[in-house]
Amino acid sequence: MYHHVKKLMYTVRVDEPDPKFGRMLLEQFGGENGELAAAMQYSIQGLNCDDPARKDLLMDIGTEELSHLEIIGTLARLHLKPSKTDRAAAEADPLISICGAGGVRLCNSAGNSWTANYLKITGELDVDLRNNIAAEARAKIVYDRLIPFTTDAGTKDALQFLMTREITHMRAFTLALESMGKGRFDIGKIPPTPELVVQYFNDSTGPGDDGDRDFRGPWNEGKDWKYIEAPAFQQLRDLSTKGTIPSEAS
Ligand code: MN
Ligand code: MN
Repeated sequence: MYHHVKKLMYTVRVDEPDPKFGRMLLEQFGGENGELAAAMQYSIQGLNCDDPARKDLLMDIGTEELSHLEIIGTLARLHLKPSKTDRAAAEADPLISICGAGGVRLCNSAGNSWTANYLKITGELDVDLRNNIAAEARAKIVYDRLIPFTTDAGTKDALQFLMTREITHMRAFTLALESMGKGRFDIGKIPPTPELVVQYFNDSTGPGDDGDRDFRGPWNEGKDWKYIEAPAFQQLRDLSTKGTIPSEAS
């Protein structure tokens, strides 16, 4: 059951409307990493979730994201409003001005309509939680990029609030995932093939134009890893050794 309370989760104040910035804000209203996408992703995952504790988490955060949608929508609306009547402001976004009278619409900053294709819902709880951790990181980085582009103090405050809450959610999703007690690389039911899963293929080699070289690190080096040199050339080398095809030297 949803109930609308006529009060924003965070008070929004705009001293100087900036229609161009309002358009940028739409990225978090109807964009791929925006608040509607977050609200729908978590709420629908929650509907599909059989684990009552983590379903509660998904519904709590999904609902909070709707409150964020209201904040970012109110903020964007305050910035876009002049484009209803002011020609210079209207030029920041003719779609908003002429079709929408300076109101927000469910599109991203480039005017593309919101789509459910943004959502990542697998029905596998631990995989969904990983999706959500990544979604929160993406939302955080968008706010991170928006904040330096405004000088309006009230706008900065509201965006700082929204950005902070994304990290809060990221922490909650991460701890919910960890508390499931699954191994870090333990996904689904069918185990991976043991001898194959430990092989690291060095599939890009050679000195590049900028002197790019191969690197080793914990992602391809260490106790379990088997480093396989250039698999694409391996077969050719084998054939060459057996004399099936002429070697370069001959
Ligand atoms: Mn949010
Ligand atoms: Mn969030």
